[in-house]
Amino acid sequence: MNRIAEAYVKLVLALGRHDPDYVDAYYGPPAWREEAARETRTLAEIRDAAVALARVAAITEAQDEARRLRQRYLARMIETVAVRAEMLEGKKLTFDAESAALYDAVAPRHEDEFFEQARKELAGTVPGDGRLVDRYEAFKGRFTIPPDRLDRVFSAAIDEARRRTQRHLELPSGESFRVEYVTGKSWGGYNWYQGNYSSLIQVNTDLPIHIDRAIDLAAHEGYPGHHVYHSLCEKHLVRDRGWLEMTVYPLFSPQGLIAEGSANFGVDVVFPDAERTAFERDVLFPLAGLDPAAAGPYERVRRLSDRLAYADNEAARRYLDGELDAKSTANWLAEHALMPRARAEQRVRFFDQYRSYVINYTIGKDLVRRYVESRGGTPDCLEKRWEELQRLLSSPRLPNDLATPA
Ligand SMILES: [Zn+2]
Repeated sequence: MNRIAEAYVKLVLALGRHDPDYVDAYYGPPAWREEAARETRTLAEIRDAAVALARVAAITEAQDEARRLRQRYLARMIETVAVRAEMLEGKKLTFDAESAALYDAVAPRHEDEFFEQARKELAGTVPGDGRLVDRYEAFKGRFTIPPDRLDRVFSAAIDEARRRTQRHLELPSGESFRVEYVTGKSWGGYNWYQGNYSSLIQVNTDLPIHIDRAIDLAAHEGYPGHHVYHSLCEKHLVRDRGWLEMTVYPLFSPQGLIAEGSANFGVDVVFPDAERTAFERDVLFPLAGLDPAAAGPYERVRRLSDRLAYADNEAARRYLDGELDAKSTANWLAEHALMPRARAEQRVRFFDQYRSYVINYTIGKDLVRRYVESRGGTPDCLEKRWEELQRLLSSPRLPNDLATPA
């Protein structure tokens, strides 16, 4: 299987030469990357090689559970290399067909009315009159982190997320990260895993950053999100077992669902609602110069607006399937997901760049939660919750393994 793994990594690196967003992380042998740069392979060559390799990977014998997971992981990941190569060659898929082919999942459909109930409750909670999207934006605007306080607020949130994670998970010794503030991106935050248990976390400051984003980003990009996921994979799979396939992270693949789903679910694990409100009130609000008395009401609004999460998938589906153009999609997001103009436009740029990847944040989170909770990791069994999350983050599990727990 090591030979299949090597061939797979080389195919991913070769495809990355055609698609700058594809190779999200690579910390394997530098010679393999140099080889990919030297011998540019065409999309058709990569696709054909992936189809042939996937066949070989599918029939490899595996003896124990770990090797079975590895074999299934490799076979499926190699198939998606071929899918992505075909897309880059111009093959058109519908939003749902694309997400099924790349991420093994299809986002549920929601009628416009589905989001109405949450908006009604928000309308009764958010003060002022006029259009709800404007009132909502004005309300959130009062909780903007002043730019000169961003770093101390983020540092405090990350430190706390790390401290809490360390209480439950064994992090590799020497793991570290650094934070950078950037502009001109379609996303709000990003974790670039560098290998050697280190991450570069980037925060996009194009738009005002509201106080709840501190915990979301600290947990999602850092602890127990992407940084911890990649660090645990490096420790348990790459260093302990020598599985070099885990040194590459192709973004448009089923691993994307596991990464985003576990990172979003991890926010709720590391900061259960009541503890989140208390930490924001006692630490983050004062650091941001905001009135701590408003932390409770702000959290209530945040939780209500969480129920609009799937509206994002609806907008992406309609836009990418050609039912709405960019402008109407931004309008739809304003009306249904309460996104102010600038944020909605940024979101449409995200849809252009990452396409059906957006489902990984919503259905990915739901799948990971269901998986962990079906194994006893419910909110009232905190130790089990962390234990199952750690197991998931330390194994090459894919979306299909979540649906049918081994
Ligand atoms: Zn993410």
